[in-house]
Amino acid sequence: MTTFQGRNYIGGQWRPAAGGRTFEQRNPAKLADVTGTFAESGAEDADAAIAAAYAAFPGWRALSPQARKRFLEQSLGAMRARRDEIASIITNENGKSLREARNEVDSGLREMEYQIAEGLRVCGQTVPVEASGTLAYSTREPLGPVGIVTPWNFPFNVPSRKCTPALMAGNTVVLKPASLTPRTGLLYAELIAAGGVPPGVINCVTGAGRAVGNAIVADSRIKAISFTGSTAVGKAIQLQAARNLTPTQLELGGKNPAIVLADADIDRAVDEIVRAAYTVAGQWCTSTSRVIVVEEIADRLTQKLLAAVRGIVVRDGTAEDCGMGPVCGAQQQSDVLRYIDEGKAEGARLLCGGTALTGVGYDGGCFIAPTIFGGVTRTMKIAREEIFGPVLVVLVVRDFEEAVAVANDVAYGLASSIFTNDLKHALTYMERAEVGIAHVNLMTPMREPQLPFGGAKESGVGLPEAGSTALEFFTHHKVCYVKYR
Ligand code: NAP
Ligand code: MG
Repeated sequence: MTTFQGRNYIGGQWRPAAGGRTFEQRNPAKLADVTGTFAESGAEDADAAIAAAYAAFPGWRALSPQARKRFLEQSLGAMRARRDEIASIITNENGKSLREARNEVDSGLREMEYQIAEGLRVCGQTVPVEASGTLAYSTREPLGPVGIVTPWNFPFNVPSRKCTPALMAGNTVVLKPASLTPRTGLLYAELIAAGGVPPGVINCVTGAGRAVGNAIVADSRIKAISFTGSTAVGKAIQLQAARNLTPTQLELGGKNPAIVLADADIDRAVDEIVRAAYTVAGQWCTSTSRVIVVEEIADRLTQKLLAAVRGIVVRDGTAEDCGMGPVCGAQQQSDVLRYIDEGKAEGARLLCGGTALTGVGYDGGCFIAPTIFGGVTRTMKIAREEIFGPVLVVLVVRDFEEAVAVANDVAYGLASSIFTNDLKHALTYMERAEVGIAHVNLMTPMREPQLPFGGAKESGVGLPEAGSTALEFFTHHKVCYVKYR
């Protein structure tokens, strides 16, 4: 692919950053390949994008939801027509395989379809009141220009599931994509614009989170912030947003467990766990990163996990037989390798992987061998902190009670699974799991767009994305009392 020259999309125009500064993005499978140069935006560019969104808001909110739906359906059509091209841009920037990238685009389109339909139901309530000759009802109002700040691991799906409900509710958007995947974010905005939405309804600015992202969060014209990313950045955003009482929807990190009980279908558990741990090189916010297994079957499960993981073919994401691509960038690679070193230093047993991959096809890329640690205890750093890479840790417990205690004994509370055929244990775990999304005999990332998606504890705060809460977050309730007699 030739080097792409990305500019900001503001008020319907492509504009370089004020001062003309740019940054490069590199393909994580071949760091020598610069995939594009992008606007290194700052506060001035954020200001221009917010001004455009602010100016476009009265016109966009005045449209009926049906009219907004017609625009977004045209955007959806434009996205469907370019599905494979979007996927290859994702692979080029993020490193995931083409198959994974196509799945991401397809799931992003499904989120969008659902939220377009849901957006027709911005219903209020009408209720009987005690006061005579008085009509009382409520309506749902858009908030205004909103800021949407997204991560690199799902650079198409996350903008899709946030921007669609924001726009359907009548808000205008300033999108700030991650610096590792700016082109996918710009393309998302371009394809929304391709539906014919008026200038300023969608805007996209690239550049460093701490500069342009922070400027969006701090601006009092921005009436809500929807953010997906790390817990550390989420906390900083929450503090900043509090100054203007800006509502936030924060979708943050995870340390997602899969419990396996002795009566489980072990082969099924292995399939689901391996898929959940190594798809997109373990960089799913809902990736399984801890296996919590009862001692009776610990050896058998570990041997089966090892056999499956040794079969994962690590390649450049464009390769036909790619089972797992590189991690997303040099920083990500060194962060994951540092966790692996810490695991070894803390006395965990490295059972497979544990190194960067080198040699033909790997040199100059950010490849890490799929890794499993055994002999892990609950106090180890690798058992508590989000590694966000292809690393699975196995914790052995006595029984169900200890499994639940270990599963809940982390700061995070995003996703979690239990593998068992015992109804009592399955449903007891559904009661006690301290997470936003829990599964029985399914992998931790499994979800559909019709239901909300958000984390508990340090994995998130605010109304969840998706389902009906997506639209709820992007509206406020106005209550009207009308004395007519
Ligand atoms: P990140 O470092 O927190 O960055 C996320 C976004 O925030 C990026 O666009 C980043 O810009 C921007 N940002 C950074 N500092 C900022 C600041 N001070 N103010 C405003 N914006 C700022 O996260 P990431 O590394 O991209 O993504 C990985 C993390 O996302 C993991 O923790 C993962 O678990 C989490 N995640 C959660 C979910 C979920 O739904 N719960 C889904 C996916 C990912 P730059 O790129 O320019 O730094
Ligand atoms: Mg980061």
